[in-house]
Amino acid sequence: MSKFSGHNFKGEKALIRVDFNVPLDKKTQEITDDNRIRAAIPTINKILIDGGSVVLMSHLGRPKEGPEEKSSLKHLVKHISGLLNREVLFADDCISEKSFEQSRDLQPGQVLLLENLRFYKEEEKGDEAFAEKLSKHGDIYINDAFGTAHRAHASTAVIAKFFAPEKKMFGLVMEGEVESAEKIMHKAEKPFTAIIGGAKVSDKILIIENLLERATDIIIGGGMAYTFMKARGGKIGSSLCEDDRLDTARDLLKKATEKGVSIHLPENSIIADKFDASANTKEAQSDAIPDGWMGLDIGPKAAGVFSEVIRKSKTILWNGPMGVFEMEKFQAGTKAIAVAVAEATQAGAFSLVGGGDSVAAVNEFGFADKVSYISTGGGALLEYFEGKELPGIAAIKEA
Ligand code: AMP
Repeated sequence: MSKFSGHNFKGEKALIRVDFNVPLDKKTQEITDDNRIRAAIPTINKILIDGGSVVLMSHLGRPKEGPEEKSSLKHLVKHISGLLNREVLFADDCISEKSFEQSRDLQPGQVLLLENLRFYKEEEKGDEAFAEKLSKHGDIYINDAFGTAHRAHASTAVIAKFFAPEKKMFGLVMEGEVESAEKIMHKAEKPFTAIIGGAKVSDKILIIENLLERATDIIIGGGMAYTFMKARGGKIGSSLCEDDRLDTARDLLKKATEKGVSIHLPENSIIADKFDASANTKEAQSDAIPDGWMGLDIGPKAAGVFSEVIRKSKTILWNGPMGVFEMEKFQAGTKAIAVAVAEATQAGAFSLVGGGDSVAAVNEFGFADKVSYISTGGGALLEYFEGKELPGIAAIKEA
């Protein structure tokens, strides 16, 4: 049993760092996607059911100069209250005297939400005195915010030092994220295929380098594939290309050969005469794209080859779409990959989808329950797979 599940919170006041950084409608301040809040509900409920009380702290948006109406967590109170089926109290500041009175008076079964942590610059600076103040809100600290685990902020990392080892732990969201990511990073059953897509090579260099030490196959799709194509001497028309990364791409291809890792680039592409949903399209070899045309999706041949590699895999990591999946004409490649990942999972593979747009694609195409794990952390997950130590994880694990 995990540390969190095995702990009885009866009579304890749990201070939970959640990731309630949800999108709000600009006019009505209504929540437009509540997935991050929903994700934290089981953690909160376990504590309440045990007979503990809960103080929730989070950031929201990017406030620059102190408090601002549009980034107030008060807009979330009603919604959280509905999901928990109980009243949620609100403190209009996270370190005011009044907020400490509110957390002090909290009774078992009660929930208090603190105002936006980033109304104080000290939060992102990782200020110790601020972290120590925050720590006074609870007897036990729980980090359940994987989305900010790569930041050494006051509430995500620094605060942990003010709690004894047995008084700090991950919540259920973090436990799930850490367990899945570690499974891929340290216990991957082979063949292990990493599928890397999206727009830019520059964003993914470190992750590819790290995966060269671990994966058996790396599939490269999306806009970033064309920099690799050009690096190999191909003609890519006006496809996305980072000319200052051609050497890097060559270097990665060379390292892969040395290490015996198979890199799969898309043999063919769906090309378009403009970056637009109404563009004229046709198929072309990815290394022979005519001038004035650009590759906006992997082609059917490439999708077939990629799918075959995926179906043979026992471990799959997927980050980044294979094309401009936001436009219908360039969705087929990403969809085909989603089908293959679902089939491999059905056949017993462990599959983790994470990092922004691939998660959106899997959700949009209805494959969310057909993969093993969908990560909630974009930047945090990428940094983890780049091989970096995440401060939010280290602060708890070092205990
Ligand atoms: P990233 O955030 O790096 O994972 O990139 C995701 C974005 O890359 C999505 O918005 C896609 O539309 C875009 N993308 C994927 N393939 C291509 C392509 N071939 N050309 C241009 N943009 C692409």
